[in-house]
Amino acid sequence: MAHECIRCEEMLTADDIAIFRKLICREADEYICMTCLSEDLGIPRKKLEDIADYYHRTGVCCLFPRYN
Ligand SMILES: [Zn+2]
Repeated sequence: MAHECIRCEEMLTADDIAIFRKLICREADEYICMTCLSEDLGIPRKKLEDIADYYHRTGVCCLFPRYN
């Protein structure tokens, strides 16, 4: 099922959802996109993308499927 950001209604990517689960609430069923989340947290969106990339590359978090 497709999700959209509950704030700006942007369609969410798998990474948007994974980052929200990782940083905010593991059991969430409503999400905000990385852009809105970065505003809330006061950190650049790029930083969130870097975090997602880190987890994809290392495979240490099951929310982020490892890159092949
Ligand atoms: Zn948003």
